[in-house]
Parts: sequence; structure tokens; C-alpha cells
Amino acid sequence: MKLPICGFDAKNAILCPQCESKVESGEITQADVDASIVLAKIAKSNNEIENFTLYSCKEFQGNFVLSLAKNDIMIIRQSRTLYRLLQDQFKGKIWLVEADETDKRFIEDLFFPTKVLSINSVWAPGGVQKTKAVISGKWTPRFPIDTEKVVEIVRNARNLDIEIEFEDKGRK
Ligand SMILES: [Zn+2]
Repeated sequence: MKLPICGFDAKNAILCPQCESKVESGEITQADVDASIVLAKIAKSNNEIENFTLYSCKEFQGNFVLSLAKNDIMIIRQSRTLYRLLQDQFKGKIWLVEADETDKRFIEDLFFPTKVLSINSVWAPGGVQKTKAVISGKWTPRFPIDTEKVVEIVRNARNLDIEIEFEDKGRK
């Protein structure tokens, strides 16, 4: 496992002086530390996770955005059990994104498994640039993804203002 903190620290839920100073200097956050400990804990009973790479975990108002290697995300998406196991360890919703991906891929990952049809830059009144994402299908009260949270996460993690529209109009 590759984590923001040492494997030993993660397994024992403690921080060595080196990792401690990374937290103090802001190089890594408490959310990175907590997520590392969670992954190490799950890895004790699930050896697939043993090969995972966690780049970071960002927390925004009870949302946990986990940046993982592409392959790790595929493994989690293929296993409902593993997803649940992971989700159960966090106090809020987890969002799986690939490390170093483009804004487009980032937004697509947040909406997974719903398809994002297009992502374009648009100019809003007042000369402000916005990013418009068009989502496949139609919004219903049962739509599983909280679009307002997505807007918030994209603003925080990417510094992008996005507007979400559904293919099949109506409201968002
Ligand atoms: Zn350490």
C-alpha cells in the first residue's frame, strides 16, 4: 500500500515524528491520516487493498474525496462489498476520484455510474466563466447523487464553478 503516511503508522494508528511534522506543516492533512488508517484497517481482512495507492483524502463538510490509483477505483467499483466496507468506515459520503486527472474526468468520477454527456466552458453574465456539465437522463427525487454536493466539491477541490444540467430538462 502506498499512503500519505508510512505504512507502519497507518497499521498502528499512530504517527511517527516525520509524519507528524508533515501534518504540522500542512503538507498532509488530518483527513489524509484518517483515510490512511482506514485503508490499513480494511487491508487486514482484504488483500486486494494491500496494493492500493491513496494519494490524498480531502474532506469538505462531511464529504470525503479519495484520490486513488485508476486501477484501485476499478476494483472498488466492481465490488459492492468492498465499496460498502470502505463507505462504512467514513462519517460521510465517500467520492472516488483518480489522482492527477483532468477536470472533466474528475467530474465524471463524481457522477459515476451516471454518464456525463458533455462538459463545456460557458460565459455567464458579468463575464464569469462557468463550467456546464450535462448529465444523461432526467433528474428525479431518487437521483442517487446530490448535485449540490458535487458543485461544492468541484468548487473546493478544483476551484471551478460548475452548473449541472440534465439532458432531459426540468430542474436540476
Ligand atoms: Zn510516519
